[in-house]
Amino acid sequence: MYGESDIKLKIKWLKGNGDLFQRTQRRLTLQYSGLIMLFLVLFIVVVYTLLYMVILRDQHRELEQLTRQETRIISDYLAESARNELQGLESQELVLAGVDQFFYYVTDANGNLVMGSETMPHMQGELFNLVAGWVPKQNEIREETLQVTFDERRIGGREIDEGPKSDTVRLLIDGSPIFYKNQFVGMIYIGKDISFAYQLFQWLLVVLVGLTVLFAGVAVLISYMMSKKAMGPISTAFNRQKEFVGDASHELRTPLSVMLSSIDAIEMTDGVEEDPFAQKLLRNMKSEVKRMTGLVSDLLVLARADSGGVERTLEQVNMQAEAANVVESLVPHAEANGVSLQLKAPDVLFVTGDRARLKQLMYILLDNAVKYSPDGGSASLQLSESGRYWTMKVADEGIGIHPDDQPRIFDRFFRSDKSRTRSVGGHGLGLSIAKWIVDIHQGTISVQSGPGKGSTFIVNIPKEKAVSS
Ligand code: ADP
Repeated sequence: MYGESDIKLKIKWLKGNGDLFQRTQRRLTLQYSGLIMLFLVLFIVVVYTLLYMVILRDQHRELEQLTRQETRIISDYLAESARNELQGLESQELVLAGVDQFFYYVTDANGNLVMGSETMPHMQGELFNLVAGWVPKQNEIREETLQVTFDERRIGGREIDEGPKSDTVRLLIDGSPIFYKNQFVGMIYIGKDISFAYQLFQWLLVVLVGLTVLFAGVAVLISYMMSKKAMGPISTAFNRQKEFVGDASHELRTPLSVMLSSIDAIEMTDGVEEDPFAQKLLRNMKSEVKRMTGLVSDLLVLARADSGGVERTLEQVNMQAEAANVVESLVPHAEANGVSLQLKAPDVLFVTGDRARLKQLMYILLDNAVKYSPDGGSASLQLSESGRYWTMKVADEGIGIHPDDQPRIFDRFFRSDKSRTRSVGGHGLGLSIAKWIVDIHQGTISVQSGPGKGSTFIVNIPKEKAVSS
C-alpha cells in the first residue's frame, strides 16, 4: 500500500543521520585515502614487476653466458684432443661447473647421454627427460618447475630427518649445439636453479604487502588530517551563518510581537471596528505577522539546535496527559478545518524525556495531519509502548506524500507542493524540528504514505534513554 521509499527512509533514520560536516569529512577522508592507496598500489605493482623482470633477465643472461662458455670448453677440448665425436668423453676429463648450475648433460649427435652431472643424482632420469631430444630455437630458454625429493640427503652415511623431504625447484634450461670443424657432434644442456629468485620474489611480495598495510594506516591518517584542514574554513563559515540566523531570529521576535499587539490595538480603535475594509486588511496583516512569528521562532529553534544551545530538561513525562493536552488545544483549529481528532493512548504512559519538546513534536505532527486533511477528514494520535520503546503514531486520511518526496520532507524548507501547501500555511520547518526532537531523544521517525492515501508518521523512542545533546 505504501511506497518502497518508506523502508529506505526508515533505514536511513535508523542508521542515524550524523552531522553533515562529519559525514563530508568522512567521505573526503575516504576519497583521499583511496587516492593515496591507488598510487601506492600502482607504485608497488610497478616496482615489483620491474624487479621481477630485471632479476629474471639477469638469470637468463647468466645462463646464456654459462652455456656459451661450456660449449666453448667442449669445442676447445675436442679440437685439442683432435676428436671428432663426443662418444667416450669422460666426465673426469672435463669439469663443467657454474654458479647455481643444477645439472648439465652432453649428448652425442644421436641424442645419447655422453656425460653430465647433477646436484641430485637420484633424479638423473627425470632431469634428462626434461631435455632429451630438445632442439632449442634461437635464444630459446625454457623454464621448468620440478618437485624434488631429498631421499639421498645424507651426512656421514646418516639420513637427515629434519627439514622438508621434498621441495619445488625452479629451473631455467638452455641448450646449445656443439660443432667440431663445422660438423654437428652433439648438444649441451644446462639447467640453472633459480629457486632463490622466486624465494626473493615471495619475500619481496610479503614485504611490499606489509608496507602497503602499514602505509594504508598512514594514508588514512594523512587523509583524515587533510580533510579536517579542508573542512575547517567551511565549518567556520557555517557556524557564523548559524550564529547569524540565531541572532537575526532573536532580534526579529521583539518587533513582531510589538506589531501583533499594535494590530490588536488598532482593531479595537473606534472607526476601524466598523470599517469592514480596514478590518479585512488588519486580519490579513495579523495572519501574516503570526506566520512570520511562527517562522522566526522555528528558525530560532533550529539555529539553537545547530549550535547545541537549546536547554533540555530530562524528566518523567506522562505522555498520555501531554497528548490529551495537545489534542485539546488543537480541537478548535481542527474543527475550523472540518477535521475530527482522536486520541488513542493507555491510561498512563510514563517516559523519560524533555516535556516541552515532546509536546512540540506531537503538536507539529498533529497540526500537519489537520493541515493536510480535506474537510470532513479525520486524524489520530496513538500512543503505545512495547519493550524498551514507546511509540507515537500520527495518522491522517489526507492528501498523502508522493514517494519521491518522502526522503526529503525532513529537510529544512522542503514543501511537497509549494502552490498547494502555501494555502495551508507553514514554511517547511516543522518536520525538521520534529526530526531534531526525535534525534535528541535517540529515537527514529519514519513515514508511511502514498498520494491520496493519507499519511502515518511513526516515532519510536527509548523509554529510559537520556536526552542527548
Ligand atoms: P510545513 O510547514 O510545510 O507543513 P513541514 O516540515 O511540517 O512543513 O512539512 C514538510 C512538507 O511535508 C509539507 O510541506 C508537506 O508537503 C509534507 N507533509 C508533512 N506532513 C504531511 C501530512 N500529514 N500529509 C501530507 N503531507 C505532509
